[in-house]
Amino acid sequence: MTTVFDLAIVGGEIFGCLAGDEAARRHPEWRVLLLDRCAPAAGATGWSLAADIPFGLSPAHHRLIAESERQWGRLAGSRAAGLVRRLPILYVVGRDRLPALQEQLGRRRLRQADAAEFEPVRRMLPDVTIREHEILVTHDEPGAVLPPREFVAELIGSGPMAANTSLRSDRCVAAGAWRPCARA
Ligand SMILES: Cc1cc2nc3c(=O)[nH]c(=O)nc-3n(C[C@H](O)[C@H](O)[C@H](O)COP(=O)(O)OP(=O)(O)OC[C@H]3O[C@@H](n4cnc5c(N)ncnc54)[C@H](O)[C@@H]3O)c2cc1C
Repeated sequence: MTTVFDLAIVGGEIFGCLAGDEAARRHPEWRVLLLDRCAPAAGATGWSLAADIPFGLSPAHHRLIAESERQWGRLAGSRAAGLVRRLPILYVVGRDRLPALQEQLGRRRLRQADAAEFEPVRRMLPDVTIREHEILVTHDEPGAVLPPREFVAELIGSGPMAANTSLRSDRCVAAGAWRPCARA
């Protein structure tokens, strides 16, 4: 028997799953084939912290950051939002580097962090010191992290919150059984 798919995606990790999810949202009638030679999130995705750090050196980076913000915003409306952890970001920077850092952060406005904001860092890294020519800064919009393995499981429809995702197992056919990849 021959099965015809409307879209085949090779690589079932974060980008493959997001591409499949996007396709399933835009074209609910499509059958999507998601192919991977390993287990979900066994590659780069599984190693990643999946941290959202809004830091860019060029206009192209800033366009990527804007797209990333759009995608994180989309997550906020899904059940996978429960996996997102918002985290404040602190930077130790030379005072003379402050204008350059501000430019790299785009619309997020830097401000001096206070002692209470530094306290969790001091607890984790007791040897950290801020030298005289340096300053500790932050911005009010936090960054974010999520557990990539759980997130991918949600996207392919096998996670505990997956009932609401668009890339359901009845619409997304994973070719063969996913098996763990040997790690180098
Ligand atoms: C240690 C570490 C930390 C990171 N931290 C961050 C972070 O904090 N924030 C961030 O944004 N990014 C981070 N990254 C980068 C991020 O993990 C990658 O950019 C992202 O996971 C890439 O996802 P992907 O889906 O494109 O590729 P991958 O996750 O590499 O997935 C590719 C998939 O394709 C499959 N595949 C490849 N070839 C074939 C084939 N021929 N047939 C079938 N299947 C195939 C592989 O098995 C794999 O499952 C980090 C990366 C590492 C390694």
